[in-house]
Amino acid sequence: MLIKLDNSHPDVILLTGDHYVDHPSFGIAVIARVLQNEGYSVWICAQPDAKDNFKEIDLLPKPNLFFGITSGCIDSTVNLYTVNRVKRKTDAYTDGGSSLDRIRNTLTTYANKVRSSFKDSFIVLGGVEATLRRFAHYDFFTQKIQPSLLENFSADVIVYGSGENTIKDIAKLIKENKKDNIFDLKGITYKLPLSHEDTLKELKKLTDTESLKTSPEKMLPFTEDIYKYSQPFFKEKIYQKNRKSIIVQNPPAHPLTSKEMDYVHSLPFTYLPIPKPKKMLKAFETVRNTVISHRGCGGGCSFCAISLNQGKLIQSRSIDNILEEIDKRHLKSISDLQGPTANLYGARCKREDYCQRSSCLFPQVCNNLVIDENVYLRLLKKVNSAVKHLSISSGIRFDIPYKKALDFILKNDIAGGQLKVAPENCDDEILDLMRKPDFKKFEHFVEFFKKTRKKYKKDIYLIPYIISAFPTSTYNKTKKLKEDLIRLLGFVPFQIQDFTPTPTTIATALYLKLKKISAKEREKMRDLLHEKRNKTTKEKRTKHEYKKSGRKRKKK
Ligand code: SF4
Repeated sequence: MLIKLDNSHPDVILLTGDHYVDHPSFGIAVIARVLQNEGYSVWICAQPDAKDNFKEIDLLPKPNLFFGITSGCIDSTVNLYTVNRVKRKTDAYTDGGSSLDRIRNTLTTYANKVRSSFKDSFIVLGGVEATLRRFAHYDFFTQKIQPSLLENFSADVIVYGSGENTIKDIAKLIKENKKDNIFDLKGITYKLPLSHEDTLKELKKLTDTESLKTSPEKMLPFTEDIYKYSQPFFKEKIYQKNRKSIIVQNPPAHPLTSKEMDYVHSLPFTYLPIPKPKKMLKAFETVRNTVISHRGCGGGCSFCAISLNQGKLIQSRSIDNILEEIDKRHLKSISDLQGPTANLYGARCKREDYCQRSSCLFPQVCNNLVIDENVYLRLLKKVNSAVKHLSISSGIRFDIPYKKALDFILKNDIAGGQLKVAPENCDDEILDLMRKPDFKKFEHFVEFFKKTRKKYKKDIYLIPYIISAFPTSTYNKTKKLKEDLIRLLGFVPFQIQDFTPTPTTIATALYLKLKKISAKEREKMRDLLHEKRNKTTKEKRTKHEYKKSGRKRKKK
């Protein structure tokens, strides 16, 4: 599907593996609107059809400046396959929800197709998949360590992390005929021939891909190096040697300031899918009435890729800018004030300089992290009084101040009946590997939640996110997890997912290093949790929950 933001010959053509949604929750929309605002003509080719061998790409005109390619909001392999390499049936980013048209390796397939039709066009890869696969990485589908996407495929550069400023610079440099200067920009990764290694002697060298392939246990220090050298304000280039090429990474782009965040969110998004879905686009329904409050997460959970994509530092919008958006969109009801961790809104680092820690919260909350609970509370109060109904669906972190916000949320009934929280497990050894706070902190949180809920007599449930079969999990630990959840909450939640070894996370490196959990063991653990969950939910499901789930309760 071709979407033309204007009708003149395109300066930039963006390709995406998702249905296009003109909403800032979708990276492709942000990049499109940023470029448009700089005066460029932007076209978007969304989900070209695999059935006719992506003919739509051949029919595109050659853009004046470059092609920008993303696989979409999620890594295409993670989107398409479960950890057991079973194809998922549904796809939230496709109209109608079928996964039939989704392909694995979307990014490289599109890039090769573009290169074969437009030999000398400049190709930029970006988004989650490009960021996670820019260096050697473990791919759970092939069950192998794979080299950077750039080793075998025909793109010129990868823009890693948030790319608004870098993409503007790329467009400007190509327009000014200064393409070579692109390779000095912050936030990019590119490829050099092996013969250039002598010129890189001064740079930090990551472990060679071939060495990682023969010794997968080296993936852990290697992955930690990627995190360390990709942190905000790191000033050096790094490189990795592959069999056929060298991958060089420039220092990361600066995190966005509050002013820049406000600028991005003031761009003329329509907040709608284009074209209008014929059936249902689940990913859009999830964000239809949401407003983004901030990006970035300092949690550094080992299984999570958010900090690789959005950065460790919190980049918050001003409250005024958020209120302007609510007004502009005539929103009467908001289903979430979106941020990776709700109560990190407004948090900032005192140092504002390079720091190699991958987490600001683990193993202890850093002394340089400034979290003023009143800032988030002020946001909640202002937004709550600007709309008829506000819900908070983003998760609340319980190892940082939360009491004032939680009190306000429960008192004003703005959790939509369910408050999300992410303890992820109950076993302290696993929590340590996950880089999550210990279980005692969650127990204290639950205690405070129950007390406050009782005080305000509210019908609100605590919904914990849980990961099963994380490295070092066993059947007995899972049994204990189930018992702890029932003891604390009275039920086993639906939000249990199997651990997926997403490329380039610390947890994936641990998965390679520690004893493997077989598919059979994983299934046993899942069945144990699901069996109990089914029983308990049947027993405990209240009228309220039935009403929310839209199902009818059987009459006795
Ligand atoms: S100094 Fe502390 S708060 Fe700042 S980035 Fe490092 S860990 Fe985070």
